Amino acid sequence: MLNICFVCTEVAPYCKTGGLGDVTEGLPEELAKMGHTVCTVAPRFDQYKDAWDTDILESVKYGKETTKVRYFHSHKKGVDRIWVDHHVYLSKTPLVNKKLYGPKASVDYIDNAERFAMLSQAALAVPLLVPLGPDGSKGPMGEDTIFVCNDWHTALLPLYLKEYYQSYGTFLNAKTVMLLHNIAFQGRFPMSKFDVLNLPEKYLPDLSFNTQFAPPPLDEKTTEPITATEPMLMLNWLKAGFLNCDQAVTVSPNFAKEVTSNPAGGVELDAIAKAVALTGITNGTKVETWNPQKDKYIPANYDAQTMSEGKKLCKATLQQECGLEVDPEIPLFGFIGRLENQKGADVIMAAMPLLEKLNCQIIVLGTGSPKLEEQLESIGEKHSFAKGVARFDPELAHLITAGADYCLMPSRFEPCGLNQLYAMMYGTIPVVAPVGGLVDTVPPLFGFLMDKIPMPTKPGVKVSEELLQQGVEAMIVGIKKALAEYGTPQFEKMRLACMANDVSWKKPAAQYVDVFEKLMVSKV
Ligand code: ADP
Repeated sequence: MLNICFVCTEVAPYCKTGGLGDVTEGLPEELAKMGHTVCTVAPRFDQYKDAWDTDILESVKYGKETTKVRYFHSHKKGVDRIWVDHHVYLSKTPLVNKKLYGPKASVDYIDNAERFAMLSQAALAVPLLVPLGPDGSKGPMGEDTIFVCNDWHTALLPLYLKEYYQSYGTFLNAKTVMLLHNIAFQGRFPMSKFDVLNLPEKYLPDLSFNTQFAPPPLDEKTTEPITATEPMLMLNWLKAGFLNCDQAVTVSPNFAKEVTSNPAGGVELDAIAKAVALTGITNGTKVETWNPQKDKYIPANYDAQTMSEGKKLCKATLQQECGLEVDPEIPLFGFIGRLENQKGADVIMAAMPLLEKLNCQIIVLGTGSPKLEEQLESIGEKHSFAKGVARFDPELAHLITAGADYCLMPSRFEPCGLNQLYAMMYGTIPVVAPVGGLVDTVPPLFGFLMDKIPMPTKPGVKVSEELLQQGVEAMIVGIKKALAEYGTPQFEKMRLACMANDVSWKKPAAQYVDVFEKLMVSKV
């Protein structure tokens, strides 16, 4: 049996802004069900009710300052949830399940490099120090641990492992997996930040990177990425993570292909991802959370036999709650997600006048870019067939997933996407862009494909009006296909096929175990 330690910034339902949190909730639980010892290590962003204070402290570096972190511990569904307590995590997010990365959307905290470098250091001590099990009676995980580093925030862990432990003879059998959930965020920092990482100069080549565009904005003054005419030298944590891990994995095979195929797909990291043979394993879903038979947020529970009636009731409630005309005959599209260009949220807004002519309804739930949030809040006032809700609302997300006829995902890129998987479980047919994991998870009988939503050839560049209109047309292609089948026997068949599809974590978890086992064997 394996010892697996996920290091991450999000764990649903404790702290979540997107799919990363869902993965670090569901995948560890499935691995634990298989008998493996599994823990997650994440910042204590909030005072989680079920977490106890272990009284265990560890010295780490926050920039140049030596400081102490404290470990809190929850144990749920066979998984140990270890929380790294330090005021730089908790003070920034007082009792709110957001603002994990910055004071507002698209704006980073100025000390993110220090905060997340500290997380990796704190996580590395967990298998040595923190006893596991519901009462801590299992003892610590030990040295033969597989560290799964999730996204750029934890990409320096393999470097700290080598430098702070393996070079002193500790963790010699430990392995690292770099698990990529989103290539758009790479941990790009000015070179001057190297100093605060407390790593020797020999890692500088792995961390340095010639880029055409600047990292995510560093503070509230510079909210736009800079596109350079000449390459700029910057730090790139993800690059260093790829080069120093034992295995690089991402969340779907098609996204792995896209990331390794060209600079736009890999957001300039394509060659590195290719060199480390990035492979893809499609995400699963936590079937206990997303189950129309048991869902406590929807007015009628249903299975495949009772789907037609159940969905009808859910749709009526959804239409009513959103102030739309209550009519079972009008096809209803739902969108849930971050209001960012990645998700095509701008395309949906721009498509409103065209959608209005198609005799359908649309509900959009999301948070993100302030401009898109503002537009979203006003769509209902301008269009009686549409409702926009700009808040993070898991309850409404469940009702939309059950009550909508179609799940709309006009993503410009999509590493895996989870909403289409949830939708299928509820007999809600995905209408998706043909990108990333959407291609792997929505074969023809299970949904409708749009044309590709074009994106600027250079990352960081604004979407032009022309490109936006092309996006609208591409999305409408999929919407028209869906509307043409609405209410037909084929539509019924698709809904049932979706519901019968196994999108649980079972298969993906077995694939991860394969990867982990090969790694552990290779060491011996
Ligand atoms: P990403 O990780 O790129 O944001 P995913 O599709 O992988 O996208 O996962 C998004 C997750 O976040 C899903 O569980 C989705 O339901 C949830 N989500 C996103 N926005 C909202 C919102 N405004 N309210 C409730 N849930 C949301």
